[in-house]
Amino acid sequence: MRLIFIGPPGAGKGTQAKVVCNYFNLQHISSGDLLREAIASSSPEGEKAKQFIEKGLLVPDEIVVKIVAERIRKIKGFVLDGFPRTLTQAEFLDRTLDSLSISLDRVFNFTVSLSKVIERLSGRRICSNCNAIYHIKNIPPRKEGICDRCGGRLVQREDDKEETVRKRLKVYQKISQPLIEYYKKKGVLVNVDGNMEVQELFERIKESLRRYDTH
Ligand code: AMP
Repeated sequence: MRLIFIGPPGAGKGTQAKVVCNYFNLQHISSGDLLREAIASSSPEGEKAKQFIEKGLLVPDEIVVKIVAERIRKIKGFVLDGFPRTLTQAEFLDRTLDSLSISLDRVFNFTVSLSKVIERLSGRRICSNCNAIYHIKNIPPRKEGICDRCGGRLVQREDDKEETVRKRLKVYQKISQPLIEYYKKKGVLVNVDGNMEVQELFERIKESLRRYDTH
């Protein structure tokens, strides 16, 4: 099964992607995580991407598609989280999937209120080692500042600071509509309410995927 999660930062895509991947045995491909890994390893793509991410801007298509395509070619079932973000990326993805003779099953469009986004992102912490996601109030780690899973250090993403979040939201609002229309026309779009709690939203997504559910 191949899914896409579209939505503004803080809509809960990453958290939900982990739950859905675990249940349906899919791989989570987060373009943001892949870019942060490229930055951490000081690859040429990472060096270029860094300046855009820090400013809350989109990384140029050619850098992102290269990184994501490498990952997609290696795996069968996935949740794409944060990719595509532009029509060029969506068209590129179609060509890549066509060349592998596979297609998309669903595109979930997460909507969320501004106040929820600010609340979620200002409290979000991620593991600097395994990318696990926490929230200082809603999903606190057992030991403050330490990842439950791997013992890695929890950090606040530089671009989760409020000013950059507002910038990222503006960027999202500007670019998202054509993408949503694109997938609506293809008949694969499902709107979901990102304000919901994790489990409640998962039930909603699971319901929409029940024909794939072999549990
Ligand atoms: P995310 O972790 O999805 O919130 O992404 C963090 C940042 O990485 C974004 O604000 C962008 O700067 C960059 N980024 C992630 N995915 C993409 C994409 N598909 N296209 C362009 N930039 C991206």
